[in-house]
Amino acid sequence: MYDVIGIGIGPFNLSLAALMKPTGLRCLFIDDKPRFSWHAGMAFSNAKLQVSHVKDCVSLVDPTSSFSFLNFLHRSGRLHAFVNRRSGAVSRKEFFQYFAWVADQLPYLRFGQKALDVRPEISHFRVTTTEAEHQARNVVLGLGICPDVPDCVRPLLGERVYHVADYLNRAPPAAGERVLLVGGGQSGSEVMEQLLAGPPLKQILWVTPRDNLEPRDDCAFTNEYYTPAYFRHFQAQPLSRRREWVQVKRLSSDGVSLDLTNQLFDKIYERRFVDSENNGVRLIVSACLEGLRQNGAGFEVTLKCTETAATRRVPVDRVILATGFVPHTPPFFDRIMQLACIEDSLPRIRSDYSLESRIALPGKIYFQNRTRIQHGLQNANLSLVAYRNATIVNSIMGKEFYPVDMDPSMLSRLAELEEE
Ligand SMILES: Cc1cc2nc3c(=O)[nH]c(=O)nc-3n(C[C@H](O)[C@H](O)[C@H](O)COP(=O)(O)OP(=O)(O)OC[C@H]3O[C@@H](n4cnc5c(N)ncnc54)[C@H](O)[C@@H]3O)c2cc1C
Repeated sequence: MYDVIGIGIGPFNLSLAALMKPTGLRCLFIDDKPRFSWHAGMAFSNAKLQVSHVKDCVSLVDPTSSFSFLNFLHRSGRLHAFVNRRSGAVSRKEFFQYFAWVADQLPYLRFGQKALDVRPEISHFRVTTTEAEHQARNVVLGLGICPDVPDCVRPLLGERVYHVADYLNRAPPAAGERVLLVGGGQSGSEVMEQLLAGPPLKQILWVTPRDNLEPRDDCAFTNEYYTPAYFRHFQAQPLSRRREWVQVKRLSSDGVSLDLTNQLFDKIYERRFVDSENNGVRLIVSACLEGLRQNGAGFEVTLKCTETAATRRVPVDRVILATGFVPHTPPFFDRIMQLACIEDSLPRIRSDYSLESRIALPGKIYFQNRTRIQHGLQNANLSLVAYRNATIVNSIMGKEFYPVDMDPSMLSRLAELEEE
């Protein structure tokens, strides 16, 4: 019997697995991939980590842990060289290497094993996988995300119609192609950067339903939203306000990195006004993909203006979808949801990240993600990963194994002000 089974080994459950090491708890983590991987189809050499590297698996709750990014740099003989670098940001590729290094040291991770079912029994959860049946007192779901592909595109998915998650798994566009890129978020912008750096294309149509490229707000005060102190304040709000705040503050998480937007503007400017070549690059805002059909060796796309509903049909050779991601939802997840207490159509998740159930459960089911509204934007990225997992460890152990609630916020509230 395990104390904990973690399903999915992305960065979120990997951090939990690392923080479990000193606890002595019996745990098992499983993942359906053959080995640790982190958005490998988008591991562009110039893609940067969008948070501080101190937001690694462990450092923000246990800076002395041997699973820190700094220890990875030290162990791989590059700490001094790293310190001497002048560019601040760490590449996603290097952080992927760090994650893989952490995964290699944890003997209770099992890859190539897919979870098929999680059922509550009298004294434990029964976890059925493609390889075995396991019993656990608690289960932590870290199922992550998968590509969000518009229905009209599905029948034509393949070598020349694909989601950005597969970008590096496909042959790159050849010189002279007409490419449609759909989506103006971070991943669409990263692909645009690749396309502009590649062989000369006849046409790049880049469409976004937004009315501009929206940069991510990454200023120091905005980053206060991504702290435990703010998380506690957020949690104390009624659900309706949390829902509203997530919408209002979404560009602190969902926007495009400011450096990248400026670089893209420069490159498109150079092509359009300075270089004599026919540039063929168009950023079309307030537009979405309405339809796609095979047209000889290529495709005909229908684009629709989100303001006027007017449509245009355009021939292209390749369609790249930067249309975002949705949570992985295996069938057993829906069965777990049947157990949930619901508030305003969302499952109620406690502040220790466990599901509030309508029936008595043998232990707790914790959620690593899918709580964007309930727990806020701070849970959709790496910012609070160590904090969240320290909270989960404390909850499972029933004591404060990791001290978590120490740092005060830089933002004070009126209630904290003493009257004269
Ligand atoms: C391209 C990209 C770049 C990002 N960069 C950053 C960044 O720089 N900074 C930041 O803070 N955030 C970033 N994010 C956001 C977020 O941090 C990542 O999406 C992160 O990977 C989330 O980790 P996760 O563990 O929840 O999920 P995932 O990384 O998606 O991992 C989930 C794992 O669960 C497995 N799984 C699913 N179902 C089952 C099952 N039934 N049985 C077994 N295994 C299963 C999956 O195969 C997968 O390996 C990025 C997101 C994307 C898409």
